[in-house]
Amino acid sequence: MNEFAPHLSFEEIADMVIDHAYNSTLVEHLRTCSRCSFEKDAVEQIVTTMRQDRTEDAPAYALASILRAFDERPVQAADPKPTLVEKISAALRFDSAKLGPAHGFRSGHASAGRQILLSAGDITFDLRLKRVSAGFDLHGQILGDVEHGNISLESSTDTRSASVGLDGEFKFDAVPEGVYRFIFHSESITAEFAELDIS
Ligand SMILES: [Zn+2]
Repeated sequence: MNEFAPHLSFEEIADMVIDHAYNSTLVEHLRTCSRCSFEKDAVEQIVTTMRQDRTEDAPAYALASILRAFDERPVQAADPKPTLVEKISAALRFDSAKLGPAHGFRSGHASAGRQILLSAGDITFDLRLKRVSAGFDLHGQILGDVEHGNISLESSTDTRSASVGLDGEFKFDAVPEGVYRFIFHSESITAEFAELDIS
């Protein structure tokens, strides 16, 4: 194959398998590229399995595993370097304030503070909030592959930012109560959590 021809995207392969959307360029690529023809065979198998499944919708886990397999394809030397910053939405994984009393810290045990975990791709933000007279001190740590970067907290009335240290730690003092956009910027990613409720 022409080593500079781009491999087929998941969408192109899925369209071929599901909607029979072939054209000569795609067919020629498949004929000459073992990687893409292998992937097309894999998608065909999964689609066949899904069609035999009596459940009404394609199982989400199956779709997720297909998409993950495509994400994890090794990057070949001929592939162009990514030039865009990857944007990831962070998801709330844990909030000690939302646990019932049986699982959380005992109420009145103020020094324990509040812990929030946000995850974005392979990294997790471990946030600890502690009430102070002017709001909350927020100490955070990035778990996972730590990259140089900075964290911003933005509300309608307040924007502040802090840099992430070598150890992945960052710190905001006396953040006023409110709902903030939490944004991590590094050279390669922007991870954002839209509504961080600091209260
Ligand atoms: Zn290919």
